[in-house]
Amino acid sequence: MAAPWAAAPPEEPLAREAALLAVDAALLAGVLMRTQEEPGASQVVSYAPFTLLPSAVPSALFEQAYAVQQDFNLLVDAISQNKEFLERTLASTIKVDDFTARLFRIYTQVLEEGLAQSVFLGINRSDYMFDCGADGTPALKQIEINTIAASFGGLTSRTPAVHRQVLKMLGRTEEASRLLPNNPAQGLALGIAKAWELYGSQSAVVMFLVEEVQRNIFDQRCVENELWNRNIRVIRKRFRDVFEKGSLDDARRLYIDGQEVAVVYYREGYVPQNYDPQNWEARLLLERSRAVKCPDIATQLAGTKKVQQELTRPGTLEKLLPGQAASVARIRATFAGLYSLDLGEEGDKMAAKAIADPDCFVLKPQREGGGNNLYGEELRHVLEKIKDSPERTSYILMDKIKPRPSKNYLLRPHTPLKVSECISELGIFGVYVRQGKELVLNESAGHLLRTKAIEHADGGVAAGVAVLDTPYLV
Ligand code: ADP
Ligand code: MG
Repeated sequence: MAAPWAAAPPEEPLAREAALLAVDAALLAGVLMRTQEEPGASQVVSYAPFTLLPSAVPSALFEQAYAVQQDFNLLVDAISQNKEFLERTLASTIKVDDFTARLFRIYTQVLEEGLAQSVFLGINRSDYMFDCGADGTPALKQIEINTIAASFGGLTSRTPAVHRQVLKMLGRTEEASRLLPNNPAQGLALGIAKAWELYGSQSAVVMFLVEEVQRNIFDQRCVENELWNRNIRVIRKRFRDVFEKGSLDDARRLYIDGQEVAVVYYREGYVPQNYDPQNWEARLLLERSRAVKCPDIATQLAGTKKVQQELTRPGTLEKLLPGQAASVARIRATFAGLYSLDLGEEGDKMAAKAIADPDCFVLKPQREGGGNNLYGEELRHVLEKIKDSPERTSYILMDKIKPRPSKNYLLRPHTPLKVSECISELGIFGVYVRQGKELVLNESAGHLLRTKAIEHADGGVAAGVAVLDTPYLV
């Protein structure tokens, strides 16, 4: 099923007129980003890229994605508390992947010292595509789950208003009224506020750990403003600030600039480029502290591609979520084929299969943020080179999901208007809070639809490939 406008999207001059209206509506609604030219200040801003038209999402799959989110929250939380599972699963990866190894070292170090943190906050986003089966029926397939710095929960709440206006201008008032409201930032802030409250110090602050250059600051401000509205003080700091001014007291309470920090919300720290030796030291200091880290290092490790692949092994989910057969079934239904490339017979077989049929697979390293995966001829080339070396184990292999494309316009500053064949990726935000062993909050918090032209195999909004979208349920 497609959206009614997807078969014949508006043409010139109507398309141009609609795009002008859409861009102004986006600026008014706050679909904002700092510019590439001036990424360090807000004097000059532009709109975050978005689609001219909302894209169709099958309502049954949309509901399925929401229905499984609390299960995924439980699962991630369970993995983060399972040292034996994390150790075994990442053993081969950390031999060859330096970044995962460094995270793992901090994880071990913190456990050896004994956890000071007793309140845990998870904010994740589970991403899916709609795989088109042989008979044309779409199925919900998970691409990955992001357990650190899952973004666009703020800006995505602003696109329904824009798309409503565009549809009205195109004479589709009835369809406009069907676009759902959506506000993940509110849900994320609710989780942060709960963690702050359980930490139990009125004067302590929430610290957003942010990048050196913050183009996507408005998305973060949406969450931040929700906290200010609840009279919770928010500070924004970089790893560098933590290194220079952060300290722990005897009870391992975290202080920066003389302020006690209750919650550290990472919007940075998920790629190797975020770290120099001082930043690694800052990360260790934060992890050792009593402050609620969102995520703690164990939860970051739970979000690695290697963990995702191991979860698909028969029996693994059952062991991680004992006695929760319904959750296990809902989770498993979203899994695509994922394969280990560890050295040995199983890995040899899959490497050969992918080399023979590269268009059926995606080769993924242990990286986040888009633009790292390998496809098609490049996949074949790289696998042929590393197929007999331990380097192979730093990757996993995944079945390629093949959604049905539809036509849309992708609106980006300084980019000519043209129709593209597009595919979409739906993300559901999840939030949970645990105090000791007791889960006190477990919710889904809203959604994000991102759309990209089919000629790009990879890449998110921040990577300049995908754009924000609004689901139109069909
Ligand atoms: P990252 O952590 O870099 O976001 P992802 O696993 O989300 O890694 O992959 C990045 C992008 O690559 C996705 O947004 C999607 O567009 C594409 N992609 C990833 N896995 C698949 C797959 N199995 N089939 C088709 N496309 C995929
Ligand atoms: Mg992704």
